This record gives sequence, structure tokens and C-alpha cells, in this order.
Amino acid sequence: MRCTRVLAALACLAITAAAQTATQTPGELKASRALAAAVKQGPLSAHVFLAKMPKGSDLHVHLSGAVYAETFIKDAVEDHICIDPKAKAFAKNPTGTCADGLVPAENVLKDQTLYDNLVNAFSMRSFVPYAGYSGHDQFFATFGRFGGLDRKQVGEWLDEVASRAASQNEQYLEIMHTPDFSASAALGYKLGWSDDLEDLRQKLLDGAVRDNVKRDIAEIDSIEARRNEIEHCGTPSATPACGMTVRFIFQVLRAFPPQQVYAQTLLGFELASADPRVVGINFVQPEDSYMSMSEYDRQMKFLRFLKTKYPKVHLSLHAGELAPGIVPPDGLKFHIREAVEVARAERIGHGVDVMYETDPHALLKEMAAKHVMVEINLTSNDGILGITGNHHPLANYRAAKVPVSLSTDDEGVSRSDLTTEYTRAAMEQSLTYMDLKNMARTGIEHGFLPGDTLWSGPDAWGKPIAACAAQPLGADKPTAKCAEFLKSSEKATQQWELERRFRTFEAGVQ
Ligand SMILES: [Zn+2]
Repeated sequence: MRCTRVLAALACLAITAAAQTATQTPGELKASRALAAAVKQGPLSAHVFLAKMPKGSDLHVHLSGAVYAETFIKDAVEDHICIDPKAKAFAKNPTGTCADGLVPAENVLKDQTLYDNLVNAFSMRSFVPYAGYSGHDQFFATFGRFGGLDRKQVGEWLDEVASRAASQNEQYLEIMHTPDFSASAALGYKLGWSDDLEDLRQKLLDGAVRDNVKRDIAEIDSIEARRNEIEHCGTPSATPACGMTVRFIFQVLRAFPPQQVYAQTLLGFELASADPRVVGINFVQPEDSYMSMSEYDRQMKFLRFLKTKYPKVHLSLHAGELAPGIVPPDGLKFHIREAVEVARAERIGHGVDVMYETDPHALLKEMAAKHVMVEINLTSNDGILGITGNHHPLANYRAAKVPVSLSTDDEGVSRSDLTTEYTRAAMEQSLTYMDLKNMARTGIEHGFLPGDTLWSGPDAWGKPIAACAAQPLGADKPTAKCAEFLKSSEKATQQWELERRFRTFEAGVQ
């Protein structure tokens, strides 16, 4: 159902709802009514319903931002680092004795005020904007305060994120992480910038990048080994988190000079080509910073160059994580379009300023036609940009048939989780059970796992390819033909599993 200007908004909504109802299965109808009743009761009832609902994936989650402050404090005590009570930040402890003005991390466990101050400084908890210091400033400042921990803790962070996701009926995560890139960056600076991208690429490859790839593969090996150890995977006491499929997105720091950003980006493309656990690349750091804004064109151009060199490596880009006033009006006009048209990103993170782009309706149409998915982060957009309700373009994307799915961004910093995002979508964006169900399906469809899709056409939810049409979706024992197809495709395997979870969930709805 496509709403046009001819139809009044309310009539259109009613017709859309009627069209949805006509095509729903009995289980979907039951779940739709149950969520509608819960929403009517309020956010707490909606939360209870949505906590158990299958959510498929979380495709936009930064590993360090997903960890809760309490975990960082525990890690700081274990690592015997120091705390700067004035700056409310961790400080390294190279000599084994904390310098003047610093206190040993273990002190914080005996000082509730300091503990509270650190939790607040590492997150959006208790934060109230004040003159000259916004939610945006607080949000991004947290990352500098909890740095300095030992890298050996990263496997535990992965477990924390995977365990929380498993407890909310998620099954697939694409986690953004920055493996070591120091040698590549150092060589980038030594070589300096050159517009001859091929020549620069060759020099970087001949130098430090290939060794850096090997180190990063070893780093991911050790992170995964630690996570498996904590979760007892492969043993009778395996935790539910072992069932969570995790892939990594290599995140590149965009707010640095081009010689560093290019070297790190090249390392990401090489790593993703060498290690199937790394499925794509993304660019991070505040999009409104001087370097991000002034280097944007160049970065999109070299991403296109590298994407041509490594066509199998996927690309998702933070683009349009901006709002009026944060940058001058001209700064709102081109980030999403350039990410789509120049860099050829397959997914966009945030996309909040889309209606301020030049010719936004043409852009939305192009994104729908190219099936560029937008990762929607409602809580983060509220905290960083102050964008909520109908100032958020989610309804515009949906009306234009641009694929969208919900994600958490930085659940540790935001003090949220994916259920919170679903609840906000239901309460504040008026999304129905079928809207949310199809967004969960959209996430798996647009995830970067290899293999053919289960569905017979783009976004043809509920209509599988012929090989899997002879049984209920998500059946425990698919036919031989369907089983063979699922075996050939990691993506379709996840899609089948999501349908299995929906069948179970809908059967249990009262
Ligand atoms: Zn993000």
C-alpha cells in the first residue's frame, strides 16, 4: 500500500492497516492484536511483549560503546590502572604507582560517589545538557574517558554484548571494532598523501599493511577464543550466547588526515578479504568534526576506488548523522547521496538529515531502487542529535520503501538495548507488529553474511524461493531440497532460523 497525497493521512493509515490484516497469518494476527493492546496500556506492557519478540539482527553496534560502564570499572580494577577523579577518566599506570592526583582503580569500589561519577561520565546516565555542552559532546567524550584498558578484556566485552543480545531473542550481530592499525597508520604518515591512489596502495601493501593484517587476524582469534571460553561453547554447559552468530565490521577513524585514513581503510579491505569473520567496512567518529566535514569528498572518492579493487568487501557508512544547527545548512545537503552514489555504500548508518539533502525525494527513490538499507538508531539519535518523534525521518524512509532495520549504536553509552529501540519504534513511531517483524527480516536480508536470500524477490517477505515453498516457513525439518539450499547459504540459514523463531513466538502469544 503506497500512501499518496490524494489520500488523507488517517484514511491512508486505515487502508494500510486493513491491507496488512488481509495478508496476515493467524499467528501474526494474534501477535498484532497483542502488541496493539500492549501499546495501548503503555510502554511497560509494550516492553514486556517486545523483549521476547524475535529481532533477527543488530547491524549497527560499536563494540566499545556497547559495553556498560560497570564492566569497564571492573576491568580497570583487574588491570590495576589508575583513575583521574577530577577528569572522571581512566589513566594508565606504567610504573605500578599512580601519579599525584590519581587513585588506584580498586579505590572506586569503596567510594560510591566516585563510582557514580564514573558511571555517569562513561554514559548518558543522569546527563542534562548545559550551556556549551550538549548530548553530542557528552556522548562522544565518553569514549576518551574509558580508554586505556588492556586489550585482553575485549573477548569479555564481546561476550557481554552477545549474551545481552541472546537474552532478547536476537541471533545475528555485526559488531564494529577497530583492530590494531598502528603500523599501517605510521607508514601512511611516512609516505604522506598522494592523489595517485594505486601507487599509494601498492606502497602501503609492500610495507606494513600485510603484516598488520596477520596481527589483526590473530587479535580476532584471541577475542573469539576468550568469548567461547567464557560462554563454554561446544560443551554441555554452553550458554545461550553461543548460539549468537557474530561477524565484525572494521571501523575506520574518519577524523584524521587522509594519509592515516587511507592506510587504515586499505588495511580494512585487506583484512576483510583475508578473514571471512570481517564482513565489511564502516567509517566512525563525529560526522560534524572539522576533519570529517572537510575530508568527506576525498574519503568517498577513495572508498569508491578501494571498493572497485575489492568488490566482494561490503560497505556500510555512517552518513547524515547530523541535524540542523550542528553544521551549516550546506553541510546537511550531500553526505547520504555521496555515500550512496560515490562510495556505493550498501547500507547507511543513521541517515537522520535525509530530508535536508538536495532533492530528498529523488534520493529516497534512488535508495529504494538500489535497496540501500538504513540502520535506524532512535535512542542514539535522541541523545546525540536531540531528534525524536516526527522530526525523525523513519516515516519518510518507510513511505519511500527504503529498507530499514532497528539497531542500538552504543547501548552501553546510551544505557539501552535493542528491546528499547523496538519499544520506542512502537510507542513513538507508531509501528505495528508487522512493521517490526518485517524490519527484523530486513536486517537479516541486508546483513553482510554470504549466500542467496531465502525470499523469491526483493523484500518479498513470507514468499520463499521454490526450493523452500513446500513446507511452513522455518519448519524444524525442511525438505531435502530446501535443506540443501539452506546449507549453501549462511544468509538463508539465518532467515530460516528467524522464521522458526517467529512461528514459536507467535504460537505462544496469548
Ligand atoms: Zn554508530
